[in-house]
Amino acid sequence: MPTKARRFAPVLSPASAGLRTVLATALAAFCAALPAWGQAPQLAPQTQQYVKYAQPLLAITHVRLIDGNGTAAKENQTVLLRDGVIEAVGKHVRVPKDATVIDGSGHTLIPGLVGMHDHMFYPAPKVNPEAKEAVYPEQASSFPKLYLAGGVTTIRTTGSTEPYTDLELKKAIDAGKIPGPKMHTTGPYLEGKGSFTPQMHELMDAADATDTVNYWIGEGATSFKAYMHITRSELSAAIAAAHAKHIKVTGHLCTIGFTEAADLGIDDLEHGLPVDTEFTPGKQTDICPDTKLAVAHLATMSVDDPQIQQLIRYLVSKHVAVTSTLPVFETFVPGRASVDQRVLDAMLPETRVEYLKSRDHVANTPDSPWVKVFKLEEDFEHAFVRQGGTLLSGLDPTGYGGVIAGYGDQHEVELLVEAGFTPLEAIQIATMNGARFMGEDKVIGSIETGKAADLVLINGNPAKNIKDIENVELVFKDGVSYDPAKLVTAANGTVGLR
Ligand SMILES: [Zn+2]
Repeated sequence: MPTKARRFAPVLSPASAGLRTVLATALAAFCAALPAWGQAPQLAPQTQQYVKYAQPLLAITHVRLIDGNGTAAKENQTVLLRDGVIEAVGKHVRVPKDATVIDGSGHTLIPGLVGMHDHMFYPAPKVNPEAKEAVYPEQASSFPKLYLAGGVTTIRTTGSTEPYTDLELKKAIDAGKIPGPKMHTTGPYLEGKGSFTPQMHELMDAADATDTVNYWIGEGATSFKAYMHITRSELSAAIAAAHAKHIKVTGHLCTIGFTEAADLGIDDLEHGLPVDTEFTPGKQTDICPDTKLAVAHLATMSVDDPQIQQLIRYLVSKHVAVTSTLPVFETFVPGRASVDQRVLDAMLPETRVEYLKSRDHVANTPDSPWVKVFKLEEDFEHAFVRQGGTLLSGLDPTGYGGVIAGYGDQHEVELLVEAGFTPLEAIQIATMNGARFMGEDKVIGSIETGKAADLVLINGNPAKNIKDIENVELVFKDGVSYDPAKLVTAANGTVGLR
C-alpha cells in the first residue's frame, strides 16, 4: 500500500463556484491521467460479491460526522469520495451530477477503526478432552471478513502464530483477491524459554533474537511483539535490530516489568497492568513469576498507588504507548461479558459449546481477583491518557474465546467509554491514535480531505450512545463500500476452525 496521500485542490468558499467547476474539470482530467493511490485494485469476483458501491465518485449526504480527531460531532455533513480518496468534507460541499448519492440521514460516519491488537488467529476447540495442547489456528477465511464487517479497516496483527499466512493474506487483500482490512503484519512472537504453545519459536539467545528480527523484516514484517519469557538481553537485541530498520517493538511481557522494558527502549506495551509483573512481591530478574500470584497482588492495588502513578509518569516521559485490550480481560470477570448472539453465530458449533462451558466456569469462580483487576486496568488507562500517555486499542481474540474479530473491536470502544472516556475520545483512541503510532496518520485515522476513504457508516449516534457503534451499515475501504451482512453470512459458523 502506498504511504503518501495525494492532496486535492484546497477547499474553496461557496462564492467561488465558477472557479471551482473549472478546477474540478482540471482535477478530473488529472485524476484520469494518473492512477490514484487510494483507488482499489481490480477486485476479483470473490471480493466483488461483498461490495455494495464501487463507483469512483460517491457522495454521502446529510450525515453526522465524527472525524476521529476528538472534535465534536458535526451534523448534516456531505462527504465526497473520489477514486478511493476523501475529496471534500463539509456542510456546503457541492455534489457533482455524476456522483452516486448515499443518503446518510439518521446515520453517523466515523473513520475506519485501526485495531492495534488484532490477531488473525483464535483458540481451537479441544473437542476431545485429551487434546490439551494450546493451539491457535489461523482464521484466514473468517477473520478478514469479520474485521471488515465490524468497521475495522486497518489492523496490526500484534504477534503471529502463522506469520507466512498473515503475510500472504495481506498480499491477497491488497491485490483485491479477498475482502479484508489493510494489514500491518507483526512477525512471529519473540518468546524466550517457557512457551506455552508449540506455535512459538523459543529464542536461544540475543543473537537468535537479532537474526529472527532481521529475517522477518526481510519477509515483510513491519512490527514485532516480544512475549512473556523473553530475557532482557534478547529483548534489547530485538529492539536494536528492529529500530535499525525503523520498525517498532511492542510486548506482552512477564519476565520483564514495564519500567525495565521502557528502559530497554520498547515502543508499546500490550494489555496494561494485568501483565506488568514489576509490583509482584519477590519478582526476580528475567523470571516470569506465577501469573496467578501477580494478578492476585494487583487486586490489592488501586490506581492512586504511588508506584502506579510513578509508572504512568515514567511511561509518558519515555513516550511508551499502551495498547488497551479490555474485551479479553472482561471475559475473565465472573458473569461480566454479556453473551452476544452475533458472536455465538460466528462460531463453529464445537467452539460455541466450549466457549459457553468456559464462561459458566468463570461465572462460578468465587472471589475472582479479576473483578478488581479489570476495574484497575480501566482506571489505569484513563489516568495514563489524562497524564499525556498514548493509548491504542485492540480486542485480543484469545483467552478462552468469545472475543471475535470486528465485534470485539466494537466492544473495546464501548469499554473505553465505560473506563471514563467520552465516546469521541474513545473513537479517537480506536482510530487516529493507532494511525499516528504506525506513522500512517497522513493517510488514515481520520475523516479529512486527501485521506483514504476508509469509513464506517453507522445507523444511530455513537456520540450519544456508544452501543450504536455495533450498527454498521456500510464499511468503506479506499472508497469501495462493503456490505457487512454479506461478509458476516459468509463467515458465520466457522470461527474456531478457519
Ligand atoms: Zn494477543
